[in-house]
Order: sequence, then C-alpha cells, then structure tokens
Amino acid sequence: MSSIRIALHGAGGRMGRALVTALAGMDNMELVGATDSPNSAVLGQDSGTLAGVGANGILITETMEDAFAAADVVIEFTRPNGTMRAIETLASNPRKLVTGTTGLDPQQQQRLAEYASKHAAVVQAANFSVGVNLAVKLTELAARVLDESADVEIIEAHHRDKVDAPSGTALLLGRAAAEATGRSLEGDAIYARVGQTGVRPPRSIGFATVRGGDIVGDHTVLFAGQGEQVEIRHRATSRANFATGALRAARWLMGAPLGLHDMPEVLGLNHG
Ligand code: NAD
Repeated sequence: MSSIRIALHGAGGRMGRALVTALAGMDNMELVGATDSPNSAVLGQDSGTLAGVGANGILITETMEDAFAAADVVIEFTRPNGTMRAIETLASNPRKLVTGTTGLDPQQQQRLAEYASKHAAVVQAANFSVGVNLAVKLTELAARVLDESADVEIIEAHHRDKVDAPSGTALLLGRAAAEATGRSLEGDAIYARVGQTGVRPPRSIGFATVRGGDIVGDHTVLFAGQGEQVEIRHRATSRANFATGALRAARWLMGAPLGLHDMPEVLGLNHG
C-alpha cells in the first residue's frame, strides 16, 4: 500500500510533537506538512528537531493551504479556534480530518459536523487511546453481565497538576457502566464520601480521585460483588497512546465515507 501523507495542525504542541515522533518511526505514513498558530513561537522551526527526533525537513508554517493540499489526511490537536481555522481552510480544498481538540462549543461542533457531511470524512474523539476505548467497551460488557450482583466503583489517578476531577475518561467509563444497566450519572453517581455517609445506595456508581506526582492517567473500574471482584484497568504511560490511536484513525479514514465518525467505529467496537 502506498504511504499515507499526513499534515499536522498544532505541530508544535504536546500532541503535535508526539505525532511527529510516532510518524518518524513509520514507513507507511509520511509527514508532509506542519502548521501552528499565528502566535506560536515555533513557526519556522523544523518539526522533527522540535520533537527531539532529528530534522525531517518539514518546517512549521502559519499558512495552512500548501501543507494541507499536500496531504491525504490532516490531523489536528489545537484549540477550538484552531479547529475552526482548519476547517475554513479545508472547505475550499477538502481533506479527510482527524481531530482531537476538546472543548468545542455547540456551534463549533455543528460546523465540524457540516464539514464532515459535505466535504470530507472526519474522525473526532475526546480520547484517541485504543486502550481506553477498549476499556469502555469491556466496562459495558461487564456491567451488563454483572448488573445488580456487583457494585461499580471507578478509581482514577492523575498527576498533581490536573485541575479537574473526576477525569473525562472516568466519566466516560462511569457513563458506559450506567447506560449499559439503565442508570444515569445524573441520578446515580456519588463523587465524594466523607463523614456519616450511611450505607452504599444500591445501584450507585462511586468515583474516587487520586492526585500526585507525574501519573499520566490510571483508571480502574471495580465491580465488587459477593465473594468476587472484577477489575478493568487502563494505565497510560505516555502521550504516545493518543498518537497511535490518531494515526490508526487516519489510516481507517482512507476507506471511510463522508460523515463524522468516532473511535469505537474505527476500532470495530460498535458491533456486538
Ligand atoms: P498544547 O497546548 O501542548 O498544544 C496545542 C498546540 O495548538 C500549540 O502548538 C498551539 O500553538 C496550537 N494552537 C493553538 N491555537 C491554535 C490556532 N488557533 N491555530 C493553530 N494552532 C493553534 O496542547 P495539547 O496537550 O497538545 O492538546 C491539544 C488539544 O488536544 C487540547 O484540546 C487537548 O484537550 C486535546 N487532547 C486530546 C486528546 C485526545 O485523545 N482526543 C489527547 C490529548 C490532548
């Protein structure tokens, strides 16, 4: 199969650099363009040198037209206005798009969906980790099978600089367990326990948060029954897992129809 040509928008960011690093080791995908914000300090720099994998000759530019035109797929991890700039540019010369930027408002999300339905197929995911997407599916299965016989508790740990809790991934796992068994986080989640809490309400879904050091991301879904426990655990050790998933989505897009697609679809997890 011929090499898939990739342009990276947000190439100077943490995810951008993780992607440049992942692409440097691949022979069936090739980096052909790198762009970043007009305000970025990395404009003009070699994207490989910046990522620490040695010069690759792909300089980071502010203008997107040429970089995107040279690619089969554009991958972008920026900020919502960066996502909007990318699809405005792509509207006149469409390319398939992988987007991981979080925090799009409803209007921005609508514009992305329009691009996907009219111009070119898009994969969008709040979490590109293959392992996390698999853990969500396994959680659904376990919740369905164990149902009333086991209490569900979600324990997550992250580095000391994380400012919100529980993590988006913990909520994703909790929602998967809830929806598989006719519950909802709005009605059944317990986010903290302190003092005289009373006994555990049946069918509640508990969350516990750990913060410390440089933990990248650790999630456990515990199903605690009578006489047995089942745990589904995912541990991230670096951002490489997101980059691997985003590149897998880019490859999958080559044969995808118009529309807004997600990671379960890329991974074939929607069946069964
Ligand atoms: P970062 O701040 O390290 O990098 C963002 C990059 O985007 C920077 O180089 C910045 O200059 C650039 N940028 C900002 N605004 C821009 C604009 N208007 N046009 C072009 N470039 C612009 O952030 P990060 O950790 O790499 O994360 C980027 C985004 O991806 C965030 O929204 C984050 O939440 C999300 N993220 C998603 C996943 C996932 O799996 N979906 C994983 C990690 C991060």
